[in-house]
Amino acid sequence: MHRILIVEDERDINDLIGFNLQRAGYEVIKAYDGLEGTELALRERPDLILLDLMLPGRDGYGVFRELRRDSRTATTPVIMLTARAQTEDRIQGLEAGADDYLTKPFSPKELMLRVQAILKRVEGAPGTVDLTYGPFRFDKNALKFYLENEPVDLTSTEFKLLLFLCERPGKTQDRNDLLRTVWGYSDATFSRTLDTHMKRLRQKLGPYGTMIETVRGIGYCIAKADA
Ligand code: CA
Repeated sequence: MHRILIVEDERDINDLIGFNLQRAGYEVIKAYDGLEGTELALRERPDLILLDLMLPGRDGYGVFRELRRDSRTATTPVIMLTARAQTEDRIQGLEAGADDYLTKPFSPKELMLRVQAILKRVEGAPGTVDLTYGPFRFDKNALKFYLENEPVDLTSTEFKLLLFLCERPGKTQDRNDLLRTVWGYSDATFSRTLDTHMKRLRQKLGPYGTMIETVRGIGYCIAKADA
C-alpha cells in the first residue's frame, strides 16, 4: 500500500484530499505546517508528497528544498499545490524539480489521476532495474544515477529525462514526447522548463553533457554510446 503525505494548512482541504486518497486505498499522513511536514516526510518516508506552497512555519519551496537535500527524501515524488494559478509559480515549482503541479481548486478525479500517474512512473517494470549506457548507469528502483561509477545527484525529473533518452539511443525525441514522459501530459507551460532541465542535466554530466544533443525545432537526442 502506498503512503502519501499531505502538507496543507487549510484543514478542510487537507481532510478532503485525505478522504479521497483513503477511499482510493492509500494510506494517508497529514501535516498542517511546513516544519511538521518536513519532519514527517523525513521520518515516515512516504511514497509521494502533496505539498501546499503557502504554509505557516516554512513555505512549500523551503520544505521542498530541505527534502531534496536529504538523501531520505531526495527522490520522493512531490506534487505542489497552490491557489495561485500564475504561470510564473508553475514554472518556479517545476524548475525547482517538483514532479507535478496542481492548482486549487482541483477535482478529486484530477488529483487521483496525477497521483496514480506519478506512482506508476516511479515503480518501473520489474526485471529491468538497471540500465548502463556508455559512462551512465541508472538504478531504476532507487532512482540513483552513476557517472563512471560515481553517484551524481539528479532530480527525479532529470533522471527520468535522461533515462528516457538513453533507452532510445540515437533517436531524436520530440519535445511533446519528453514532456509527456516526465509530466504525464504535454503542456505549453512546461516547454521552457524542459530546456532548463536539459541545461542543468548537461552541467551535471560535465564532459559528457555534450552527449545530449539539441535537435532544433524537434527536441533532444542522446548520442550513441561507444560499446
Ligand atoms: Ca495554504
